[in-house]
Amino acid sequence: MRNEELGDLEVWIDQDLCTGDGICAQYAPEVFELDIDGLAYVKSADDELLQDKGATTPVPLQLLTEVVDSAQECPGDCIHVRRAADKVEVYGPDAD
Ligand code: SF4
Repeated sequence: MRNEELGDLEVWIDQDLCTGDGICAQYAPEVFELDIDGLAYVKSADDELLQDKGATTPVPLQLLTEVVDSAQECPGDCIHVRRAADKVEVYGPDAD
């Protein structure tokens, strides 16, 4: 599926399942970062760690591949990528 067909995407992490291995932060450090608690969080466009439960951040188009790879390889199965418009998950454990 191409991103143009999906529209704007956003991503969030379920920290309850995060193993802290850091794969996501390696793939897309502009989007994911480990905090001192050892868990991964998404970041806002201006580089702020978003620590509210279920916080989402937009997926930059140029980082789509990295974010999708992160979701698919995440050992905790806890990276959720969804359409911004209707909140339907398109990559991650709850995607069809
Ligand atoms: S890849 Fe998944 S389990 Fe690993 S640090 Fe990122 S969110 Fe946590």
